Amino acid sequence: MAERIIGIMGAMPEEIRNINELLTERKEIILGRRTYYTGRLNGVRSVVVVSRIGKVAAAVTITTLILEFGITELIFTGVAGAISPDLEVGDIVIGRRFYQHDMDARPIMKQFEIPLLGVFYFETEESRLQYAQRVVGEFLENKHLHAVVSSEELNRFNIHAPTLHIGDIASGDQFFSDSDKKQRIKKELHSVICVEMEGAAVAQVCFEYHIPFTIIRTISDAADENAGIDFPSFIENVASKYSMEIIKLYFQNLDAQLI
Ligand code: SAH
Repeated sequence: MAERIIGIMGAMPEEIRNINELLTERKEIILGRRTYYTGRLNGVRSVVVVSRIGKVAAAVTITTLILEFGITELIFTGVAGAISPDLEVGDIVIGRRFYQHDMDARPIMKQFEIPLLGVFYFETEESRLQYAQRVVGEFLENKHLHAVVSSEELNRFNIHAPTLHIGDIASGDQFFSDSDKKQRIKKELHSVICVEMEGAAVAQVCFEYHIPFTIIRTISDAADENAGIDFPSFIENVASKYSMEIIKLYFQNLDAQLI
């Protein structure tokens, strides 16, 4: 069996800052204006990279991880805007199905159909969902976040008892900061609980190359008119710490993962 090589990806530097510092035998390789950090995390070969924002940036980065670095699986951590009213800022979503909400080749194809693949979404394997659920569950239950985010910050963002959700995600090249748009997507894609800008692109490439993937998103905003207000501060002070802890736990528990 080929050696396991895990790709670790985020869209913004803040989302996975410091994670590359966890690597031993670390090397830096610059390709396509991105820095890929290779090395070992808890002894497992890994590659850490910031894709930049949006579907194209995400697609080219995951393709490079697969073809140039030979990754055998991917974990993505980042933030997302809530569509479901059940989600609060600070909650965590593990994505099950990934839709591209800006894919629309009507009248030639149906809305949201991925051209020439004949599918409407890309799905995470059940065993990956279960493993991610265990990792994120441990992060939330053991109140790891109270150890890494100050109570001042948690209060400022009204984060008290964040919860874990497994659900569908829609991705597209738009930042949602508008209630009308939010209502529209709710109507068109009923099962979608949050929106972001990379997941479904990563999922498509992983599907095409048979690479298992896990995408974990912390809710940063409610995808409405207030979405942009505290966004930079949330990423800087909260989301970056969530990502770090989740990645650490993901690697600490790998022995228990059934793949
Ligand atoms: N103003 C920010 C722009 C970030 S774009 C900046 O200057 O850096 C938003 C990023 O967070 C994307 O990577 C996307 O995946 C995620 N995201 C968080 N909330 C979102 C929302 N409401 N709509 C779309 N993407 C969102």
